[in-house]
Amino acid sequence: MSAAVYIGLGSNLAQPSEQILLAVAAITQLKDSTVSAVSSLYQTPPMGPQDQPHYVNAVLELRTTLRPLPLLHRLQAIETEQGRTRDTGRWGARTLDLDILLYSGETSTDPVLTLPHPGIALRSFVLYPLNEIAPQLNITGLGNPSQLIERLAEPCPNIINAKNLEIPPSVC
Ligand code: ATP
Ligand code: CA
Ligand code: CA
Repeated sequence: MSAAVYIGLGSNLAQPSEQILLAVAAITQLKDSTVSAVSSLYQTPPMGPQDQPHYVNAVLELRTTLRPLPLLHRLQAIETEQGRTRDTGRWGARTLDLDILLYSGETSTDPVLTLPHPGIALRSFVLYPLNEIAPQLNITGLGNPSQLIERLAEPCPNIINAKNLEIPPSVC
């Protein structure tokens, strides 16, 4: 039985859009896994330190039989392959960041892998792309993406590469 997993992708160094597309391709190659939806690419202001470039963000849906921790380790290996270093401080610039936003209905408070990801309800760069590919998603006890977007009251990030033009994001 495969799990429905949502992964947040972010990059603000070394041609960010290319980094995101490369990461989608690498995730597509993961064993025992199928990428079932990919959002548009969104340009978003940095979180935390402001003296860094804007980010490109996206969210994808993965069907996988990999368990959460092995999946995290594979995603971290992809980050490393794409030049991610961990010397730029909290929320510093990076070539690639891959976060497990949700792993089916699983919950965990372990700092090594917290599920759902603790930022999921608070970040427009997560919620807008998530709403685009999974508008009906019930985010463990928090509501669906558009309900969380309404609470945030932030403008829709700029879409720089619309994947699903035939279904424009309803909240943008
Ligand atoms: P944030 O997690 O607030 O988005 P970040 O992505 O910049 O910040 P990282 O430096 O990429 O943080 O990751 C720090 C640690 O977070 C990782 O070593 C990883 O073990 C842990 N972590 C906990 N929960 C998750 C999750 N759901 N997805 C990815 N990493 C997680
Ligand atoms: Ca992150
Ligand atoms: Ca991360």
